Amino acid sequence: MVKRSNCHTHSVLCDGKDTIGHMARRAREFGLVSLGFSGHGPQTNNSFGIRSEAEYAAEVRRVAAEHAGGMKVWLGIEQDYFGYCTIPYDYRLGAVHYLDGRDGVNHAVDHSEECFERMLREGFGGDALAMARAYYGRVVEMCEKIRPDIVAHYDLICKFNEGNRFFDESDPAYMAVSLEALEAICDGNRLLEVNTGAIARGRRTRPYPDFPQLARWRELGGRVILGSDCHDAEKLLCGFDGALETLRRAGFRSVWRLGEGEALFEEDAL
Ligand SMILES: [Zn+2]
Ligand SMILES: [Zn+2]
Repeated sequence: MVKRSNCHTHSVLCDGKDTIGHMARRAREFGLVSLGFSGHGPQTNNSFGIRSEAEYAAEVRRVAAEHAGGMKVWLGIEQDYFGYCTIPYDYRLGAVHYLDGRDGVNHAVDHSEECFERMLREGFGGDALAMARAYYGRVVEMCEKIRPDIVAHYDLICKFNEGNRFFDESDPAYMAVSLEALEAICDGNRLLEVNTGAIARGRRTRPYPDFPQLARWRELGGRVILGSDCHDAEKLLCGFDGALETLRRAGFRSVWRLGEGEALFEEDAL
């Protein structure tokens, strides 16, 4: 049985809608056995992340103590390629949200459709394959640089591409770039997040990563964990049932989640 848990959540201390306390209360009501907060950490390229790591950590620990014995609360961080941490966390999600275009601009990958279109047009001269190479190349670099426990939203570059709006995701050249990077980051230990955040926002009908990448990850013996990239407590479990179905179809026999006790990660049979 797959127990309910979520490793990828944001609160008002970064760009989320709800307080840490409210999210934990709702998570408890939804029957989660564990919950991880993963605020956006500080970054060298802008001031997007949480203002004070100490304040964030103290609040998560305070709420964790409130729920001790009922639901395990973990202190995590979502660390961008440009991110850094000044305190230790229980776990870290690693992510790529920015690409350096040929125009010298540091473009946001997932901010808005307009920003994405500008990045493709002005940053990469309309060459989607060049953009994909830059993105996946940076995902590999991020894993080497940050050594995250979990790789977040692996193919975030597809966020605004539902229906192949900007580029063809089934193009063998694109798929080769995406799968090659996936092979490079699979070390048998690192978890790949199955992220339903874009479903929660009505942006996509499928989780990240897409099916071919998930199937390849399974062939490589990789492990997966669910996250909803939750910015709204009501969507803590958004898309999870469908994601579990997708994992079964991809041949996975188990899924990992944040632990209920001392162990950071635990495995549930699918
Ligand atoms: Zn992210
Ligand atoms: Zn996130």
